[in-house]
Amino acid sequence: MAALSRLSIGRLTPDGAMAVAVGAGLAAALLVLWVIGNLVVAAGFLAAAIVVGGGVIAWRALAPAPAAPDAGIDWNLVRTLAARSGDAIAITDRAGQLVYANDEYEALFADLPAPPDLPIGEAGIAALAAAGRAAWRDGRARIDRAEVAGKTIKIDVLRSGQQQDLLVWRAEPLAGRDGSAALVAALSGGLGRRLAEAGIMAALLTPDGRVMSADPVLRARAMGHSEAAVEGADFARFLITDGHGRIRFANEGTQGNPLRLLQVPFTKEEDAPILVALLDEEDNALTTGTGAAGHIRTLVQLMPVGIALVDRDGRFIEMNDAFMRAASLDPSAPPIYPGDLVVREDKAAVADAMRRFAAGGAAHAADMAVRLRDHPEEPVILSIAGARGLGDAAVVLSLKDNSEESRLKREVAQATKMQAVGQLAGGVAHDFNNILTAIIGHCDLMLMRHSPGDSDYDDIQQVRNNSNRAAALTRQLLAFSRQQTLRPQVLQLPDVVSEVSNLLKRLLGETVSLEVRHGRDLGPVRADPGQLEQVVVNLAVNARDAMIAKYPHGGGKLTIQTRTATVGEIRRRGPDIMPVGDYTALEISDTGSGIPADVLPKIFEPFFTTKEVGKGTGLGLSTVYGIVKQSGGYIFADSPPGQGATFTIYLPVHATGEPVTPRKAAAKPRPAELWGTGTVLLVEDEDMVRAVAERALTRQGYTVLTAENGEAALEIIESNPRPDLVVSDVVMPVMDGPTMARHVRARYPDMPILFMSGYAEEQLRRSISLENVAFIPKPFSVQQLAEAARDALAQQG
Ligand code: ADP
Repeated sequence: MAALSRLSIGRLTPDGAMAVAVGAGLAAALLVLWVIGNLVVAAGFLAAAIVVGGGVIAWRALAPAPAAPDAGIDWNLVRTLAARSGDAIAITDRAGQLVYANDEYEALFADLPAPPDLPIGEAGIAALAAAGRAAWRDGRARIDRAEVAGKTIKIDVLRSGQQQDLLVWRAEPLAGRDGSAALVAALSGGLGRRLAEAGIMAALLTPDGRVMSADPVLRARAMGHSEAAVEGADFARFLITDGHGRIRFANEGTQGNPLRLLQVPFTKEEDAPILVALLDEEDNALTTGTGAAGHIRTLVQLMPVGIALVDRDGRFIEMNDAFMRAASLDPSAPPIYPGDLVVREDKAAVADAMRRFAAGGAAHAADMAVRLRDHPEEPVILSIAGARGLGDAAVVLSLKDNSEESRLKREVAQATKMQAVGQLAGGVAHDFNNILTAIIGHCDLMLMRHSPGDSDYDDIQQVRNNSNRAAALTRQLLAFSRQQTLRPQVLQLPDVVSEVSNLLKRLLGETVSLEVRHGRDLGPVRADPGQLEQVVVNLAVNARDAMIAKYPHGGGKLTIQTRTATVGEIRRRGPDIMPVGDYTALEISDTGSGIPADVLPKIFEPFFTTKEVGKGTGLGLSTVYGIVKQSGGYIFADSPPGQGATFTIYLPVHATGEPVTPRKAAAKPRPAELWGTGTVLLVEDEDMVRAVAERALTRQGYTVLTAENGEAALEIIESNPRPDLVVSDVVMPVMDGPTMARHVRARYPDMPILFMSGYAEEQLRRSISLENVAFIPKPFSVQQLAEAARDALAQQG
């Protein structure tokens, strides 16, 4: 409660008591009326004063007159009433001492200074002192404005008291009476926040343009942070105007968004505060702005297709990232004119189209095939449309980013090509295998007739060795064409890697370091472990060569990693190339010379090599490719410039619950004896192979019946006693091996059958639905054929 510093109360004579009481009551009532502006309360107050006055008279009549009682103002009542006023009220006596002050006064002037010595600046104090003097003289005075603690107030001074010996000072915040005080607080608080959320910045200003309050966004944009003290600041200072009359925040500079400013006089009074609202000038920018407005920019940026806006003069004013990507533009040096995007031949056509669309004379939209300056190989479609109502934009351009599409196209084309080359290679290998079977077989037969000391023996041995080298090459071709014999097992990739790591260390030499990392909880895969070892070795040899090329004096690092492929990377590879699924990845990366971008698409092709003659065959990677493909997997080569090469192989996780095959399956003990007895029906359409095989089997002690195709074989079956074994080629004209074998089995269900083929056992087994057939890949030696025949017979027996 405000202090009642001192009460100085005059003395009254008994005779005037009643008059005094009524007079005092009237004065107090007038004071009340003036203070709180309420006639009813004032009337009540007067009535109370009269009652009190009457009480005093009655009391006086009964009691002897003591010393004159203190009369005048009932301070309790004044205090109660003053507390009901929202204004700051102080009362001073003639000596200028403060005799009363209410809560509001204390809140406004913390140390309870006596007017006129208020913290309102020197000029304010002087004016207030003058007002005090005027009030003593005239009964009333006021000053229209004074600034205190960021608030503007006006002060009324009234001479009052029974003896007109008091001055009542009433300070009224200028925004007080009309409710703006509440707004001052609300703008800095919840209301301000809600306005800001609605995109409205608001401030309350004094009539001379000083900020009384502002919402947090306005504070932030005008001053840099949302709690900046803006009170008392000159609002005009926050804003700048450009040549076109657009307003922006000075703080945001000429690049800032233009603003729309609305002024709302708070009341009709001249000195009423002004409410200003600021809105981002969005609508305007759409129709009249010179730059694309913020939200057009956002909109354009959000578009999934490449969009660019061009102004009437044919200059780009906006383009999104997709457009930059589609046109392969360097974001740091964007082009100025659309014509800059295309090859020289297309420039004129593009510029012409821009002019027509900008002038509005062209049809609504059109597509144009153009060739981009940076990618002239493939034409792209540039869509052009006239723009209306998008500010300065006169033409909208759209360019589809088809880099992904063309990448896929390229890869599909590449895969198709590989497929075709594979078929070709497979066919060549098949025929070669027949020839090699004949050559090797004849060599074997000749060697059997010659002893090692013989003059021909070494020559025949030479022919045989070279034929074996040729056979190794055809095996690689078959591997590439995915037609080689695979013996798939369910296995864990880390086992395959550890199986070859010793070999790798020897291959890489001392200077290349090898790091092997294995992921946890890898899914098992189904593949031929021997073939996978071949894959790792081939990739490692290439990596070593690339590292030697980069560091002739040694150095480099080969990293082999197994891990579970992430969904993200599988998606990145593209569902058209590799279907989404669970894969275990084997990644082999080196720090070597890397693979140039123009070489990268060719490396898996057979006979593609960049190595000098005699060093590379160009079959290493094609073998790898074939093995991976035949195992149902995928292989990718990546070589970011300057970072060596990384080969990633994805093999599908084999999730049938089949147990992982223990690695080293114990080899079957074989009887060394190759001599056999019994009748063999040999079916083969290639004369040279048939001749060799016949001689080989005959040599081993078999009786051999020969047929040159399936039908001939069935005739022999009909006209002869049951043979002990059928040895047959697979692919033959007229009737193929499997069909013939089915007929034979129809007659002799337990007939052992041995297929010889230049194609893969895997494929063969898939294509024939026959149980219990044995298989021998071509080319084979006499020895191998004898072993296979013996095993087939033994199994049956
Ligand atoms: P070869 O090794 O016999 O040349 P490949 O089919 O194994 O045949 O490889 C084909 C070509 O791919 C190589 O000649 C070489 O240019 C490139 N290459 C393969 N692996 C790498 C690698 N790790 N780093 C750089 N280039 C490589």
